[in-house]
Amino acid sequence: MNAHAKETAETIRSAVLEAGYDACGIATADAFPEFERILRERMDRFPETRALYEPMLKRGAPQAAAPWAHSLIVAVRRYGKYRLPPGLAGHIGRAYLFDRRTAACPDHAMAGEVVRRLKALGLRVRKGGVPDRWAAARAGIARFGRNGFVYAEKGGSWINVETWLTDARLPADAPALDVPCPPDCRACAEACPTGALDGPFSMRMDRCVAYLTFAAPEPIAEELQKQMGGWMYGCDRCQEVCPRNRGQWKERDRADWLEAVATLLTPAALAEMDDETYRNAVHPLFWYIPADRADRWRANARRARRNRRSAPCESTGSGGETCYFDAAMRE
Ligand code: SF4
Ligand code: SF4
Repeated sequence: MNAHAKETAETIRSAVLEAGYDACGIATADAFPEFERILRERMDRFPETRALYEPMLKRGAPQAAAPWAHSLIVAVRRYGKYRLPPGLAGHIGRAYLFDRRTAACPDHAMAGEVVRRLKALGLRVRKGGVPDRWAAARAGIARFGRNGFVYAEKGGSWINVETWLTDARLPADAPALDVPCPPDCRACAEACPTGALDGPFSMRMDRCVAYLTFAAPEPIAEELQKQMGGWMYGCDRCQEVCPRNRGQWKERDRADWLEAVATLLTPAALAEMDDETYRNAVHPLFWYIPADRADRWRANARRARRNRRSAPCESTGSGGETCYFDAAMRE
């Protein structure tokens, strides 16, 4: 790799960090055969999940859609820097609470800024379209856990991974494909309320609470509903119990855009929410449930309240900072 390519790689790395990301790595844009193998294994084991996983297969071969791509720029954004408004832990997944794509999130413009800077360097760029977690491991900026999430040195699994394909031939960073979980740890699989994590790297999406709360066809089986606990949108449980996340949520910034609506996001408030409040205040933050489906939120919130009444508080958490069933919210 010539000196110019190395210099370009360093310029890109600086641009990504200056845009606000916490880490940046570079990898080749080659296919991801392991990603494809794992998806096919899941589909073979659980044929009922085929329709969910099959559309993802194309991400394993990014050069099929972008034959001009030679390299992959990978960035980590740490969202475990935000203060979690009281009452939301255990009910709404943190990745959704602190989603950078929300216009009100202070990190909203970061990805656009990266694209702008890469184009200013004369590069061809395409955002996404690859298996982001695999890309992060290949680029050496995060390592897998047995729960299928990737963990960055700073931020644990409380991160987003974002990727950009580019036509530049850049020197690749050393990969980080090891899985440094403690040998006997099964905390994530044991904590998974619905048995979606039935073994290392074996997550079946059709049982994952996140999918069940906002994407699964309704009605959800009664037995699964009981297992979903207090979660209304997403689920963090397999990350909250993970020892590799201990001390990784370091509140530094206020999430003002969430604080402003936090009282609307409790199970009690959401269970009685009217359609207009949903459209104007809730849907702009959490758009996986369609704008005309306030009823799905209300049903999720009522189910969460029912479950919370009947379930014990399962307070564990990584740094003692989280109670799955927030005691302050118990009725
Ligand atoms: S997000 Fe929740 S339901 Fe999904 S695998 Fe993790 S613990 Fe299980
Ligand atoms: S809970 Fe244990 S096995 Fe699961 S990802 Fe964390 S360290 Fe690995």
